Amino acid sequence: MTQGFSLVIHGGAGVMARDCMTQGREALYHAALVRALDAGEEVLLQDGNALDAVTAAVCALEDEPLFNAGRGAVFTRDGTQEMDAALMAGCSRRAGAVAGIFGPKNPILAARAVLEQTDNVLMIGDGALNVARAAGLNFRAKDYFYTQERWDALQDTLRMEREGKLDDDPSRRHGTVGAVARDRHGVLAAATSTGGMTAKRPGRVGDTPVIGAGTFADNATCAVSATGDGETFMRLCVAHEIDARIRLANIPMDRAAEGLIMTDLAAVRGSGGLIAVDRSGVITTPFNCEGMYRGWIVEGESRETAIY
Ligand code: ASP
Repeated sequence: MTQGFSLVIHGGAGVMARDCMTQGREALYHAALVRALDAGEEVLLQDGNALDAVTAAVCALEDEPLFNAGRGAVFTRDGTQEMDAALMAGCSRRAGAVAGIFGPKNPILAARAVLEQTDNVLMIGDGALNVARAAGLNFRAKDYFYTQERWDALQDTLRMEREGKLDDDPSRRHGTVGAVARDRHGVLAAATSTGGMTAKRPGRVGDTPVIGAGTFADNATCAVSATGDGETFMRLCVAHEIDARIRLANIPMDRAAEGLIMTDLAAVRGSGGLIAVDRSGVITTPFNCEGMYRGWIVEGESRETAIY
Protein backbone atom coordinates (compact mmCIF):
# COMPACT_ATOMS: atom_id res chain seq x y z
CA MET A 1 0.00 0.00 0.00
CA THR A 2 1.70 3.21 -1.07
CA GLN A 3 0.96 6.36 0.91
CA GLY A 4 2.10 8.58 -1.92
CA PHE A 5 0.36 9.29 -5.20
CA SER A 6 0.45 7.35 -8.45
CA LEU A 7 -0.09 8.85 -11.89
CA VAL A 8 -0.10 7.03 -15.22
CA ILE A 9 -0.65 8.57 -18.65
CA HIS A 10 -0.91 7.25 -22.20
CA GLY A 11 -0.70 8.79 -25.65
CA GLY A 12 -2.39 5.89 -27.40
CA ALA A 13 -1.64 2.39 -28.55
CA GLY A 14 -1.25 3.46 -32.18
CA VAL A 15 2.52 3.84 -32.10
CA MET A 16 4.81 4.20 -35.05
CA ALA A 17 6.51 0.91 -35.99
CA ARG A 18 9.95 0.66 -34.41
CA ASP A 19 11.76 0.58 -37.76
CA CYS A 20 10.03 3.81 -38.92
CA MET A 21 10.76 5.69 -35.69
CA THR A 22 13.71 8.08 -35.83
CA GLN A 23 15.67 9.05 -32.74
CA GLY A 24 14.53 12.64 -33.12
CA ARG A 25 10.89 11.68 -33.30
CA GLU A 26 11.17 9.34 -30.37
CA ALA A 27 12.66 12.18 -28.33
CA LEU A 28 9.68 14.40 -29.23
CA TYR A 29 7.25 11.78 -27.94
CA HIS A 30 9.15 11.31 -24.70
CA ALA A 31 9.32 15.08 -24.16
CA ALA A 32 5.56 15.40 -24.74
CA LEU A 33 4.86 12.60 -22.27
CA VAL A 34 7.14 14.25 -19.69
CA ARG A 35 5.23 17.54 -20.07
CA ALA A 36 1.95 15.74 -19.39
CA LEU A 37 3.40 13.91 -16.38
CA ASP A 38 4.68 17.25 -15.06
CA ALA A 39 1.21 18.80 -15.42
CA GLY A 40 -0.44 16.01 -13.44
CA GLU A 41 2.34 15.75 -10.89
CA GLU A 42 2.16 19.46 -10.12
CA VAL A 43 -1.42 18.97 -8.91
CA LEU A 44 -0.64 15.86 -6.88
CA LEU A 45 2.48 17.32 -5.24
CA GLN A 46 0.34 20.12 -3.86
CA ASP A 47 -1.97 17.52 -2.32
CA GLY A 48 -4.44 18.17 -5.11
CA ASN A 49 -7.08 15.64 -6.02
CA ALA A 50 -6.90 12.84 -8.57
CA LEU A 51 -9.61 14.32 -10.81
CA ASP A 52 -7.73 17.61 -11.15
CA ALA A 53 -4.51 15.70 -11.85
CA VAL A 54 -5.93 13.56 -14.65
CA THR A 55 -7.67 16.61 -16.12
CA ALA A 56 -4.38 18.55 -16.17
CA ALA A 57 -2.43 15.66 -17.68
CA VAL A 58 -5.01 15.06 -20.40
CA CYS A 59 -5.21 18.78 -21.25
CA ALA A 60 -1.43 18.73 -21.78
CA LEU A 61 -1.72 15.67 -24.04
CA GLU A 62 -4.61 17.22 -26.00
CA ASP A 63 -2.47 20.30 -26.63
CA GLU A 64 0.24 18.14 -28.26
CA PRO A 65 -0.31 17.79 -32.01
CA LEU A 66 1.61 14.49 -31.85
CA PHE A 67 -1.30 12.67 -30.25
CA ASN A 68 -4.77 11.89 -31.56
CA ALA A 69 -6.87 14.10 -29.25
CA GLY A 70 -7.68 17.81 -29.24
CA ARG A 71 -5.08 19.43 -31.49
CA GLY A 72 -3.92 16.75 -33.91
CA ALA A 73 -7.14 14.69 -33.81
CA VAL A 74 -7.66 12.33 -36.77
CA PHE A 75 -10.14 13.03 -39.57
CA THR A 76 -13.41 11.31 -40.40
CA ARG A 77 -13.92 9.98 -43.92
CA ASP A 78 -15.69 13.29 -44.72
CA GLY A 79 -12.61 15.29 -43.70
CA THR A 80 -14.12 16.57 -40.45
CA GLN A 81 -12.89 16.03 -36.88
CA GLU A 82 -15.16 14.62 -34.16
CA MET A 83 -13.82 14.24 -30.66
CA ASP A 84 -14.85 12.06 -27.72
CA ALA A 85 -13.77 12.51 -24.08
CA ALA A 86 -14.73 11.30 -20.62
CA LEU A 87 -13.64 11.44 -17.02
CA MET A 88 -14.78 9.78 -13.83
CA ALA A 89 -14.23 10.42 -10.13
CA GLY A 90 -13.66 7.23 -8.14
CA CYS A 91 -14.85 8.74 -4.86
CA SER A 92 -18.39 9.44 -6.05
CA ARG A 93 -18.61 7.52 -9.33
CA ARG A 94 -19.70 10.76 -10.90
CA ALA A 95 -18.76 10.94 -14.56
CA GLY A 96 -18.93 13.35 -17.47
CA ALA A 97 -18.50 12.63 -21.16
CA VAL A 98 -18.92 14.20 -24.59
CA ALA A 99 -19.04 12.53 -27.98
CA GLY A 100 -18.59 13.70 -31.56
CA ILE A 101 -17.83 17.30 -30.65
CA PHE A 102 -15.72 19.89 -32.46
CA GLY A 103 -14.72 23.30 -31.16
CA PRO A 104 -13.60 23.18 -27.51
CA LYS A 105 -9.79 23.44 -27.38
CA ASN A 106 -9.76 20.77 -24.68
CA PRO A 107 -12.58 18.23 -25.09
CA ILE A 108 -11.75 16.81 -21.64
CA LEU A 109 -12.80 20.14 -20.11
CA ALA A 110 -16.11 19.82 -21.95
CA ALA A 111 -16.52 16.38 -20.35
CA ARG A 112 -15.67 17.91 -16.99
CA ALA A 113 -18.28 20.61 -17.55
CA VAL A 114 -20.87 17.88 -18.15
CA LEU A 115 -19.80 16.26 -14.87
CA GLU A 116 -19.86 19.50 -12.89
CA GLN A 117 -22.56 21.62 -14.49
CA THR A 118 -25.23 19.05 -15.38
CA ASP A 119 -26.90 16.00 -13.91
CA ASN A 120 -26.16 14.03 -17.08
CA VAL A 121 -23.26 11.73 -17.90
CA LEU A 122 -22.88 11.72 -21.70
CA MET A 123 -23.76 14.59 -24.04
CA ILE A 124 -23.46 15.09 -27.79
CA GLY A 125 -24.02 17.78 -30.42
CA ASP A 126 -25.11 21.35 -29.78
CA GLY A 127 -26.24 20.48 -26.27
CA ALA A 128 -22.70 19.44 -25.32
CA LEU A 129 -21.23 22.54 -26.96
CA ASN A 130 -23.69 24.76 -25.11
CA VAL A 131 -22.58 23.27 -21.79
CA ALA A 132 -18.96 23.95 -22.77
CA ARG A 133 -19.80 27.54 -23.76
CA ALA A 134 -21.72 28.13 -20.54
CA ALA A 135 -18.66 26.90 -18.61
CA GLY A 136 -16.58 29.56 -20.38
CA LEU A 137 -14.30 27.08 -22.16
CA ASN A 138 -11.91 28.15 -24.93
CA PHE A 139 -13.02 27.28 -28.45
CA ARG A 140 -10.74 27.08 -31.48
CA ALA A 141 -11.29 27.21 -35.25
CA LYS A 142 -10.44 24.43 -37.75
CA ASP A 143 -6.88 25.53 -38.42
CA TYR A 144 -5.92 25.01 -34.77
CA PHE A 145 -6.88 21.33 -34.86
CA TYR A 146 -5.54 20.60 -38.36
CA THR A 147 -2.26 18.73 -38.82
CA GLN A 148 -0.85 17.81 -42.20
CA GLU A 149 0.19 14.41 -40.92
CA ARG A 150 -3.35 13.42 -39.93
CA TRP A 151 -4.73 14.77 -43.19
CA ASP A 152 -2.20 12.73 -45.16
CA ALA A 153 -3.07 9.67 -43.06
CA LEU A 154 -6.72 10.08 -44.06
CA GLN A 155 -5.79 10.28 -47.75
CA ASP A 156 -3.60 7.15 -47.42
CA THR A 157 -6.35 5.23 -45.63
CA LEU A 158 -8.98 6.20 -48.22
CA ARG A 159 -6.61 5.29 -51.07
CA MET A 160 -5.92 1.89 -49.51
CA GLU A 161 -9.66 1.32 -49.16
CA ARG A 162 -10.16 2.11 -52.86
CA GLU A 163 -7.39 -0.35 -53.72
CA GLY A 164 -9.00 -3.00 -51.53
CA LYS A 165 -6.06 -3.05 -49.11
CA LEU A 166 -6.39 -3.34 -45.36
CA ASP A 167 -4.99 -0.40 -43.41
CA ASP A 168 -3.21 -2.27 -40.65
CA ASP A 169 -0.83 0.51 -39.57
CA PRO A 170 -1.94 1.36 -36.02
CA SER A 171 -0.13 4.72 -36.02
CA ARG A 172 -2.25 5.81 -38.98
CA ARG A 173 -5.47 4.20 -37.83
CA HIS A 174 -5.89 5.39 -34.29
CA GLY A 175 -4.50 6.78 -31.02
CA THR A 176 -5.95 8.35 -27.89
CA VAL A 177 -4.72 10.03 -24.73
CA GLY A 178 -5.56 9.25 -21.13
CA ALA A 179 -4.56 9.48 -17.50
CA VAL A 180 -5.36 7.65 -14.26
CA ALA A 181 -4.35 8.68 -10.78
CA ARG A 182 -4.57 7.84 -7.13
CA ASP A 183 -3.95 10.90 -4.99
CA ARG A 184 -2.36 10.98 -1.52
CA HIS A 185 -5.82 10.64 0.02
CA GLY A 186 -6.52 7.39 -1.78
CA VAL A 187 -8.97 8.90 -4.28
CA LEU A 188 -8.92 7.49 -7.82
CA ALA A 189 -9.82 9.16 -11.13
CA ALA A 190 -9.61 8.40 -14.84
CA ALA A 191 -9.77 10.60 -17.96
CA THR A 192 -9.59 9.73 -21.67
CA SER A 193 -9.80 11.84 -24.84
CA THR A 194 -9.61 10.95 -28.53
CA GLY A 195 -10.23 11.91 -32.13
CA GLY A 196 -11.25 8.26 -32.68
CA MET A 197 -10.23 6.21 -35.70
CA THR A 198 -8.91 7.66 -38.97
CA ALA A 199 -11.58 7.62 -41.72
CA LYS A 200 -14.32 6.73 -39.24
CA ARG A 201 -17.89 7.36 -40.35
CA PRO A 202 -19.19 10.72 -39.18
CA GLY A 203 -21.30 10.00 -36.11
CA ARG A 204 -19.23 6.96 -35.06
CA VAL A 205 -18.50 6.99 -31.32
CA GLY A 206 -15.78 4.81 -29.81
CA ASP A 207 -15.15 3.40 -26.36
CA THR A 208 -13.51 6.52 -24.90
CA PRO A 209 -16.66 8.35 -23.72
CA VAL A 210 -18.53 5.15 -22.84
CA ILE A 211 -18.20 4.76 -19.09
CA GLY A 212 -17.12 1.21 -18.30
CA ALA A 213 -15.66 0.62 -21.77
CA GLY A 214 -12.76 3.06 -22.26
CA THR A 215 -12.96 5.00 -19.00
CA PHE A 216 -13.85 4.00 -15.44
CA ALA A 217 -12.96 4.78 -11.82
CA ASP A 218 -14.13 3.50 -8.45
CA ASN A 219 -12.18 4.05 -5.24
CA ALA A 220 -12.99 0.52 -4.11
CA THR A 221 -11.22 -1.08 -7.06
CA CYS A 222 -9.36 0.80 -9.79
CA ALA A 223 -9.21 3.60 -12.35
CA VAL A 224 -8.80 2.65 -16.02
CA SER A 225 -8.20 4.50 -19.31
CA ALA A 226 -8.10 2.43 -22.50
CA THR A 227 -6.84 2.84 -26.07
CA GLY A 228 -7.26 0.70 -29.15
CA ASP A 229 -10.01 -0.63 -31.43
CA GLY A 230 -12.92 1.03 -29.69
CA GLU A 231 -15.60 -1.35 -30.91
CA THR A 232 -13.93 -4.33 -29.23
CA PHE A 233 -13.39 -2.41 -25.98
CA MET A 234 -17.10 -1.56 -25.97
CA ARG A 235 -18.20 -5.11 -26.68
CA LEU A 236 -16.10 -6.39 -23.78
CA CYS A 237 -16.88 -3.47 -21.44
CA VAL A 238 -13.16 -3.63 -20.73
CA ALA A 239 -12.74 -1.01 -18.00
CA HIS A 240 -15.73 -2.18 -15.99
CA GLU A 241 -14.80 -5.82 -16.47
CA ILE A 242 -11.50 -5.16 -14.71
CA ASP A 243 -13.40 -3.55 -11.84
CA ALA A 244 -15.74 -6.57 -11.72
CA ARG A 245 -12.91 -9.10 -11.62
CA ILE A 246 -11.27 -7.26 -8.73
CA ARG A 247 -14.52 -6.75 -6.83
CA LEU A 248 -16.25 -10.06 -7.40
CA ALA A 249 -13.39 -12.51 -7.94
CA ASN A 250 -10.73 -10.81 -5.83
CA ILE A 251 -8.27 -10.93 -8.72
CA PRO A 252 -5.36 -8.45 -8.37
CA MET A 253 -5.75 -5.48 -10.72
CA ASP A 254 -2.64 -6.16 -12.78
CA ARG A 255 -3.72 -9.75 -13.44
CA ALA A 256 -7.28 -8.68 -14.29
CA ALA A 257 -6.02 -6.02 -16.72
CA GLU A 258 -3.51 -8.34 -18.31
CA GLY A 259 -6.16 -11.04 -18.80
CA LEU A 260 -8.51 -8.60 -20.51
CA ILE A 261 -5.89 -7.26 -22.91
CA MET A 262 -3.84 -10.36 -23.67
CA THR A 263 -6.58 -12.97 -23.69
CA ASP A 264 -10.09 -11.55 -24.02
CA LEU A 265 -9.30 -8.65 -26.35
CA ALA A 266 -6.96 -10.72 -28.47
CA ALA A 267 -9.72 -13.35 -28.82
CA VAL A 268 -11.99 -10.83 -30.56
CA ARG A 269 -9.03 -9.55 -32.62
CA GLY A 270 -8.93 -6.29 -30.72
CA SER A 271 -5.65 -4.42 -30.69
CA GLY A 272 -4.79 -1.95 -27.94
CA GLY A 273 -3.92 -1.46 -24.33
CA LEU A 274 -4.81 0.38 -21.16
CA ILE A 275 -3.40 2.09 -18.12
CA ALA A 276 -4.77 1.41 -14.65
CA VAL A 277 -4.12 2.15 -11.00
CA ASP A 278 -5.66 0.31 -8.08
CA ARG A 279 -6.80 1.56 -4.70
CA SER A 280 -3.39 0.95 -3.14
CA GLY A 281 -1.55 2.83 -5.90
CA VAL A 282 -0.26 -0.19 -7.84
CA ILE A 283 -0.10 0.60 -11.56
CA THR A 284 -0.21 -1.45 -14.75
CA THR A 285 0.13 -0.67 -18.48
CA PRO A 286 -0.63 -3.81 -20.56
CA PHE A 287 -0.92 -3.69 -24.38
CA ASN A 288 -1.11 -6.38 -27.06
CA CYS A 289 0.34 -4.38 -29.94
CA GLU A 290 3.81 -3.12 -30.81
CA GLY A 291 3.77 -0.28 -28.32
CA MET A 292 1.81 2.30 -26.36
CA TYR A 293 3.04 5.81 -25.60
CA ARG A 294 2.99 5.92 -21.82
CA GLY A 295 4.51 7.33 -18.68
CA TRP A 296 4.11 6.98 -14.95
CA ILE A 297 5.09 8.32 -11.56
CA VAL A 298 4.80 6.35 -8.35
CA GLU A 299 5.70 8.90 -5.72
CA GLY A 300 9.06 8.15 -4.14
CA GLU A 301 9.54 5.04 -6.30
CA SER A 302 9.65 5.54 -10.05
CA ARG A 303 9.16 8.02 -12.86
CA GLU A 304 9.46 6.88 -16.47
CA THR A 305 8.23 7.28 -20.03
CA ALA A 306 8.16 4.44 -22.57
CA ILE A 307 6.94 3.67 -26.08
CA TYR A 308 7.68 0.01 -26.92
N1 ASP B 1 -10.23 3.80 -28.67
C1 ASP B 1 -10.26 4.88 -29.62
C2 ASP B 1 -11.54 4.80 -30.39
O1 ASP B 1 -11.93 3.71 -30.76
C3 ASP B 1 -9.11 4.87 -30.55
C4 ASP B 1 -7.78 4.53 -29.95
O2 ASP B 1 -7.60 4.50 -28.77
O3 ASP B 1 -6.84 4.24 -30.69
O4 ASP B 1 -12.11 5.80 -30.69
